[in-house]
Amino acid sequence: MKMTLIKDMLRLRAESQEVCVRGWVRTKRDLKNLVFIDVNDGSCFHNIQCTFDRESGLKADIENELNKVSTGASVEIKGKLVPSPASGQAVEVAANEITVIGEAPVDVYPLQKKRHSFEFLREIAHLRARTNTFGAVARVGNKLAFGVHEFFQKNGFHYVHAPIITTSDAEGAGSMFQVTTLDMEALSKSGKPVDYTKDFFGKPSFLTVSGQLEAETYATALSRVYTFGPTFRAENSNTTRHLAEFWMIEPEAAFYHLEDNMDLAEDFLKFLFEKVLKESAEDLNFFEAHVQKGIIETLESLVKSKFVHLTYTDAVKELEKNKDAFEFKPFWGCDLQSEHEKFLTEKVIGGPVIVTDYPKEIKAFYMKQNDDGKTVRAMDVLVPRLGEIIGGSEREERYDVLEQRIKELGMNPKDYWWYMDLRRFGTVPHSGFGLGFERLILYVTGMTNIRDVIPYPRAVGQADF
Ligand code: ATP
Ligand code: MN
Repeated sequence: MKMTLIKDMLRLRAESQEVCVRGWVRTKRDLKNLVFIDVNDGSCFHNIQCTFDRESGLKADIENELNKVSTGASVEIKGKLVPSPASGQAVEVAANEITVIGEAPVDVYPLQKKRHSFEFLREIAHLRARTNTFGAVARVGNKLAFGVHEFFQKNGFHYVHAPIITTSDAEGAGSMFQVTTLDMEALSKSGKPVDYTKDFFGKPSFLTVSGQLEAETYATALSRVYTFGPTFRAENSNTTRHLAEFWMIEPEAAFYHLEDNMDLAEDFLKFLFEKVLKESAEDLNFFEAHVQKGIIETLESLVKSKFVHLTYTDAVKELEKNKDAFEFKPFWGCDLQSEHEKFLTEKVIGGPVIVTDYPKEIKAFYMKQNDDGKTVRAMDVLVPRLGEIIGGSEREERYDVLEQRIKELGMNPKDYWWYMDLRRFGTVPHSGFGLGFERLILYVTGMTNIRDVIPYPRAVGQADF
């Protein structure tokens, strides 16, 4: 018999064809003459109901198998696909055969309740994909990842892999994980200074915080590229929006100015939202009903909206008018805090807003300087409920200006010789941005903690599984 996934079975017209259901039991109800077993195989949100009718003369050994069935058990059930009298499902299986492949004893299998807290489920991350919520998160994540490629491929962007181990710090800031094969324990006992020439790469090396600098090298050859890979930040922040290991999507495009970059970010987000609204409706309906009321309407209105553009200077003016609303008092030159970002997008604009032209002091060295000598061509896309979802900029393509800025920041231009080369040879204006993949899933599903939208969250003190 052909292997059929439940999502395809549910779409078949019931014409009494034989089917074979394979999956994990969600619920079993044993009534006098009828036993109902709901099976899920993760192929879609819905279960398929398998009904055993004792009056139809089931084989003797079936009762034995039925006795072994409990929530979580893996089963193979054979029977006929028939129209379902129950509401909410067009078809069900009139079952006549069942094999319990693996039992899940009630007294020890942890997923018994209809709803478990997300905190509890975080401790059993290896089993939580078997719940409605985490199954739905995984399917929506899959849809979005595919959509990312679809969008860029349609728009002439080439997919490139940036290295994961690097010796440069893209943001010019700390918070990197060091990579070493040196024996730290022996070294600390010896009391000698670390000799990095003896390390694997012959110098200190780290896990990347961004693939941008490398993406720029390919954008200045292939015009439009994007990376989509893991990035690492040793941020000691215990927030619901930060992970130590997350996946980032970073398009980079030659001949794009900030305005083009803003349009790209807007089109990109709208494309993804539209795609999940269309193609993940079942899962979204679940999030709407059980996780975040209004999420579907939010996404729909976002697709129709026009993202507002606001300069940092104007944004700060707005914030200063509402000083009392904040823990951190806003002033020109301050880094926008999450509370400021949320206020801007939720209260001032009431929708997505792209804040541009930030003070150069609070942004990375590679951002293009404006003529005012104070601000750079940066852009952050802020959305209600989340704050920053995308951060990007036009890059400084003028050799002298970039070199000057690197020196001003006390960095060594020699460390960036290859990055400088892009400005020495055939330089062009170019721009790009970074979208945190898990922030995107967070936004689309209405989930509230970023640790619940990545299969295995890595955060301070949390890397076990
Ligand atoms: P934030 O201010 O929210 O900490 P950032 O300004 O440090 O973010 P960028 O360096 O601009 O972030 O990175 C680009 C994008 O990557 C962000 O807009 C966000 O979507 C995502 N991102 C950044 N840091 C993290 C993190 N620790 N965990 C998950 N996603 C992140
Ligand atoms: Mn940012």
